[in-house]
Amino acid sequence: MESSVQSETSIADGAPRSTSERKAERLAILASLRQEMEYLNTIGKRFVAAFDRFQVHRALLETLQDIYSFSACCILLKSEPYQLFIIPCYPLNPTFLETMIKRIASAAQALDFLQINAQQLARTAYLDAPDNLARNYRETGHLAGPEIGSSLNIPLTVENRIIGMLSLFDEKKGTFDTDMLRWTTMIADYAAIALENVSLRERENALWREAELERQRLELIITSMAEGLLIIDSTGTIVKMNSAAQRLLSQAQLDSQDNVPLRTLARTGDVPWLPRLSKIVEAALKGKTVTNQELVVGTSGESVPLTLSIGASPLHDASEPHATPIGVVAVLNDVTSIKQIDRMKDEFVSVVSHELRTPLTAIKGYTQHLVRRIERRLRKISPSSTQVADPPENYDLRSLNIIQSQTEHLERLVSDLMDLSRVQWSTLNLHFETFYLADLLSDLVRSVQASAEQHTIRIEILPSDTSVTADRERIGQVVGNILDNAIKYSPQGGQITVRLSGQGEDYQVSVIDQGVGVSPEHYAHIFERFYRVHNTASHQYTGIGLGLFVARAIIEGHGGQIWFDSTPGRGSKFHFTLPHTPRPPES
Ligand code: ADP
Repeated sequence: MESSVQSETSIADGAPRSTSERKAERLAILASLRQEMEYLNTIGKRFVAAFDRFQVHRALLETLQDIYSFSACCILLKSEPYQLFIIPCYPLNPTFLETMIKRIASAAQALDFLQINAQQLARTAYLDAPDNLARNYRETGHLAGPEIGSSLNIPLTVENRIIGMLSLFDEKKGTFDTDMLRWTTMIADYAAIALENVSLRERENALWREAELERQRLELIITSMAEGLLIIDSTGTIVKMNSAAQRLLSQAQLDSQDNVPLRTLARTGDVPWLPRLSKIVEAALKGKTVTNQELVVGTSGESVPLTLSIGASPLHDASEPHATPIGVVAVLNDVTSIKQIDRMKDEFVSVVSHELRTPLTAIKGYTQHLVRRIERRLRKISPSSTQVADPPENYDLRSLNIIQSQTEHLERLVSDLMDLSRVQWSTLNLHFETFYLADLLSDLVRSVQASAEQHTIRIEILPSDTSVTADRERIGQVVGNILDNAIKYSPQGGQITVRLSGQGEDYQVSVIDQGVGVSPEHYAHIFERFYRVHNTASHQYTGIGLGLFVARAIIEGHGGQIWFDSTPGRGSKFHFTLPHTPRPPES
């Protein structure tokens, strides 16, 4: 290194130098390097200290003024739309200003600023006047222009990417010495990095502001929601609840500040419904979406206690939607008024069905009496007598038979409605006795087959012993109902199979038909009261949608289960299990 410096110096000067001369030369170079580094350090510090766009402008102006005396410095940024900042050193003549903007536009065009427009730039240009500008003017009375003597344009680049352009203008000629170009470019580089940092910070701040605004908006929505809202973390602790939730759950005095998981509160507290709420939350924490869960949070002394319908959904991390939930969001709806209407409806149905029973019994009794009288009279008319072949009594008898069958239909409806009330008020008292299930099924099949000529009813009894302790009449009602449905919903006839099989401690009864079937969207509702897939309005099927509701209550009252599977257009299979001896219903 040293020798190469020496030979270069020798060739340039044409004469060898002494050691002391070389040393002096090296010291001079070092001194100038140190000076340069110190200067660079000063510049660096100025730009690093600049926190916003305008402080960068000041740092730039100050640094450029160290090396030149000029009229104005301009920064054009390649943002969308382009932004032009004019930083004058002293007030500018309007013609000077106008020409300056035109020159900036044409220099920028050459530097690949697409479709830049001088008029537009002039309209949006920002005059960033330093604080001392007015004072300078008052003191000197100096106004730059109108002519531009010299100008200099330097691209502002960050990592080889042009982010803008720096332009310097002066009214005098020859201001921007090419000797200083290296320094000006270096200053421009510092300014470019500082401006890029500012715009990154501005963008970050804007994002924060937006996020904060969004948070406030969400907070407002949550607070003003009529529904109660609970936000629960992965440990099952309530972290947020709105005022509606606070009001609805006031009995438990829950507080999101307590930091205690619901399951602990449920275990240690004496609020009767907390364990159920905790169970719902635990299910959602396992990833299950829970809907329409009823929670009675009022006291039983009230005519209709405060009742909530709860829905709880797992919250998943957006980046890991299949991972374990990070929390739960639960929505609480006050359904007390619906319960109140339900209760009034139930009371009405209960009263009406009881009231209908008395006149029905009378109609039935008197019709039977009349039928017997006419039958007696008809028997007295001898077929060999000369009287008419079809006596009027025959017509009367046919009419009475119709009254009888319609009365029976009405009686079945009334008895379904009364059963509904019994299920609602939990007064469906079951009377257990021991009998053979096979006998009951055979009797039922025989009687149903007698009135269903279009269908063939097959019976399959698989277990050898079919002894069971159950409510014979009620189980007969369940099978009769399912069999009636199998016939009703197989309008083309076909085969119906009643199968009795054994399943450990339980019997299983299945009724299989080849009828219209049920489509999947109805599966979850078919055992609900008054639910009908095949409505009377759109189809010819009579019924009020209570048979399966009551059937489920009867089977569950025995500790069994009832379910079905079906293929639309191909048929349905209804099954229920019945324990050999009744057992408490599964909760
Ligand atoms: P309904 O008196 O209307 O028959 P149910 O409670 O017995 O009331 O049945 C409820 C609904 O389930 C019926 O309306 C019908 O749409 C459907 N359903 C019941 N059994 C069958 C079946 N075997 N095939 C097709 N649909 C059925």
